[in-house]
This record gives sequence, structure tokens and C-alpha cells, in this order.
Amino acid sequence: MSVTYQCVSCSSRFDADLLYECPECGGILDVRVYLSTVDPSALEGEPSTMWDYESFLPVEDPPTLGEGGTALVPAANTADLTGADVDLYLKNEGTNPTCSFKDRPNALGLAYVRENCETETAVISSHGNAGASFAAYANRNDIEPIVLVPEGSTAGLPKVKSYRPTTVPVQGDISDTYALARDAAATYGWYNGTTTHQVPLANQGNRTMAYELYAQLGQVPDWILVPVSAGPLLTQTYRGFEELQGLGVVDELPAMVGVQASGCAPIAEAFDRGVTDVEEWHDAMDTVATSIEDPLRGYAKDGTYTLEIIRESGGTAIACDDGPIWNAAGRIVESEGVLAETASSTPFVALERLYEDGIVDAGDTVVGVVTGHGMNEVGKLAERAEERDRIPVDASVLRQTVAAD
Ligand SMILES: *Cc1c(COP(=O)(O)O)cnc(C)c1O
Ligand SMILES: [Zn+2]
Repeated sequence: MSVTYQCVSCSSRFDADLLYECPECGGILDVRVYLSTVDPSALEGEPSTMWDYESFLPVEDPPTLGEGGTALVPAANTADLTGADVDLYLKNEGTNPTCSFKDRPNALGLAYVRENCETETAVISSHGNAGASFAAYANRNDIEPIVLVPEGSTAGLPKVKSYRPTTVPVQGDISDTYALARDAAATYGWYNGTTTHQVPLANQGNRTMAYELYAQLGQVPDWILVPVSAGPLLTQTYRGFEELQGLGVVDELPAMVGVQASGCAPIAEAFDRGVTDVEEWHDAMDTVATSIEDPLRGYAKDGTYTLEIIRESGGTAIACDDGPIWNAAGRIVESEGVLAETASSTPFVALERLYEDGIVDAGDTVVGVVTGHGMNEVGKLAERAEERDRIPVDASVLRQTVAAD
């Protein structure tokens, strides 16, 4: 089954198997879905997996691990603690098979490669979540995975290695591993699954987020808050809602909020400056939210595309400091029982600011995407929890220690 790609810069269309960028102008490509071939009745009822929406996707027989169909958790306690009088939900992507939303693009991308391509080897550049997910779906599809891990991904490296790909730590940051994956894939004919905008086929899997949110809420949320590095989850969620609009299922689109960490925020900075073009991050990267730490060096145009979609949707981009990110992570798990990665707690920092600034209004419906499970960095999160000395087996000492009622 070939795929129709459309260039977001020059609008040229191409029917092909795998394309990474526009053959005419080098621009970013998006997959175009012919809506006459999809089955809108899939949008009725609770989703079980992302494959409820198979008619939107270009594979026939994916070897699923049960990805997608994640819970939409009402989060009134978090809204209260945030001081925002909104109808708040957490889309808990941490409950995907490898504990992040990356299972959506990888399940689609690797199943497509198995069904349509000769390629037996696949490479990805990743901080951890994308690499672990990639390894799981490559294994499942009988493709050899190679995962390139940059310096600084200390929480992500053990997760990747546990899935048993060929794990290669690389000297450099995520932009260096990006360049290496791209170069090696082009030279040796491997599939490159690096989840920037250069892998439009896999990224199409992220559109299932939109279908699920609509099916679960029965309406389009006013705001969707998404932690972003290059931004494919954000752009493809928006494209998914556009498809629903094209089908006549909905008549509005959500405002998309791209949330970054102040220690590496190229998209939020460009939004603040009111410019069109995102620039590579200029400083050393410094944030606790490793999964969204991406300086976009060599592919700033990916950020530009994400920014364009944010503006088109009537949304905004925000950078959060580490202190509030830690606080939000604690608040979500203590008030809702949802353990989020630090990167995935950023939407709730953003919500507080957007509500204070009168951008998000009372009564709005807001979805914060919890992109990854806190278990992905449980060591790091545990360091912030209260420490107690080991006690003897004695109830009265226990009573004193916990000071409970
Ligand atoms: C990859 C990742 C992101 C960023 O998603 P992009 O689509 O690359 O912008 C956010 N949060 C977590 C937990 C991730 O693993
Ligand atoms: Zn083009």
C-alpha cells in the first residue's frame, strides 16, 4: 500500500513507500489521507487500541502490543490545585506498552516497513522513550533495531538497553545522534525512525490521539497542552482533528499549546519574539525534562513547522522552569495518582500561567497530554520524595515516624 505525501512548503504530492523529505524542495512532508476511504463509525464508543482507527492508517495487519486506547482521566483535583476553573483531563499516554506515546508512531512505522519494504535494519536517535518503543516494535516486526543514545540521557539509557536493541551511546547531544542516524540510514539503506518531522509515515500514528480524544470526550477540547521537542505529536494531533473536520464529524479545531522547558525552548522563544522562523537553541541545554530537550540543531525547520501549526490553531507556546515542573509532577501524582515523567508535567505548569493570564477561560475544556510514564525515570523522581531512616519492627516507633492520625 503506497502512501500519498504532501510537502508543507511547496505543496507537491508524491505517491511512494518511504519518504523522509520533499524530493522537490527538501521541505517537511505530511501524509495525506483520502477521507472517502475511512470508516467514521470507528469514532463511536470508547477506543480499545489505536487500531480501532485502522481505516485511517496505511497498514493492513499490524502485530499490535495493544498501543493506544489510553485512559482520559478527569483531573478536577489538579485543576483546583492549579487554581484553574476548567474542565481538565489527563490523556495518560504512560500506559502504552512501552510507557510513552512513542508507541503510536513506532507501531505504525515498523509495521509499514515490514509490510512494504525490504529493509531489515532500522536506526533511531533517542533520549530513551522513542528508542525503547522503537526496539519493541522492531523486535515484534522482525527488524533489527539500532538505537543511538546521546550524552545526558542517563534515565533513558537503561530503559533502551532493557529492550535489547543494539544500543550505541554516542558522543554528542540529540542533534548529533539525529545527524548520525540520518547519515547511516541514507548510506546503508536502513529505515530511519527518528521521530522528528523527517519520518512523516510513522508520525501519522500520532493522529490517533485526535480520534481517541474525540471519541472519549464527544467534543473537541478547547485546548490541548502538549510537551514538545520537535513537535510531531502536536502537529499530527492537529492534523487528526482536521481530518475529523473534513469528514464533517466536528466543526471546530482545538487550540494547540506547545510546552517546553526554559533550559531548551527554541519554539517557545520564537513564539515570544513573534517571529516565523525557529532558530537552533543557542545555549547549553539545562533542564530536568530530558525527554523534551532538543536544540533542533540542523533541523530548526521542524520547529518552524510546529510553530506554524500552533499559530494556525490559535494556540501558544510556553517555556517552564524546572522548579515548577517538579512541583507539577508531585501535584499530579499526589492528587490524581497519575505518575508522569517530568517532561510530561509541563502542561500543568503551562495551564497555571495561561489561566492567570486570561488566555484559558473559566469553563474551558482542557486536555494535558501526559506523554510518558514516571516509571521511565523512577530513580530521578524518587530522589525528590521524602527520605526516612530505617526503623525497628515497633508499632510505636512507626506511629511517631509517620505522625499519622
Ligand atoms: C518524545 C517525547 C516528547 C516530545 O514529543 P515530540 O513529538 O518529539 O515533540 C514529549 N514527552 C515525552 C515523554 C517524550 O518521550
Ligand atoms: Zn516541497
